[in-house]
Amino acid sequence: MTTAPPPILSSTSPSDVSTTCAAHNLTPAEFHALREQATAAKARAYCPYSNFRVGAALLPAVGKDGKGGGGGIDAIVCGANVENASYPVTTCAERVAVGRAVVDGLHAGGGFRAVAVATDTDAPDSPCGMCRQCLREFCDVKIPIIMFDKNGNFSVLRLGELLPLSFGPQALGVPEPSKSLAAQP
Ligand SMILES: [Zn+2]
Repeated sequence: MTTAPPPILSSTSPSDVSTTCAAHNLTPAEFHALREQATAAKARAYCPYSNFRVGAALLPAVGKDGKGGGGGIDAIVCGANVENASYPVTTCAERVAVGRAVVDGLHAGGGFRAVAVATDTDAPDSPCGMCRQCLREFCDVKIPIIMFDKNGNFSVLRLGELLPLSFGPQALGVPEPSKSLAAQP
């Protein structure tokens, strides 16, 4: 079975950005902050073996002020891939970002509203299978995964499209992170 790839859009096209933001409940400022911070994180990747740099940025549902219903650009958490001479020890950018967010408490109260990933490739690349599962722990399946290539072009798919029929916290009786947001005042 094959699935048609998503369209490639341009981050310099106001209509592409506004259409994407409207579809995924983001502001253009949040979109561009995610792109900029994922790209900046990519530059800090430690990847002497593959030279395949990846940056990731997570937009928490709750900002650093603790208020729900929007999160904030100031709460964006970044990660980059961190390789190791013992190759399997390598950690992807997305999971580095998730780890940082959890330690800072930024996953609490709703998980993340959007994820951006940036690579140096000619076309957008998607998170690996392990990272899709990791993100599923802290994200609703409806959130957008925005994938940027080296030129700032991007594709968007929802997490549930990248990881259909996913196994998440609810399967083990733990509330979905996104459900706790609704319970907030
Ligand atoms: Zn990965």
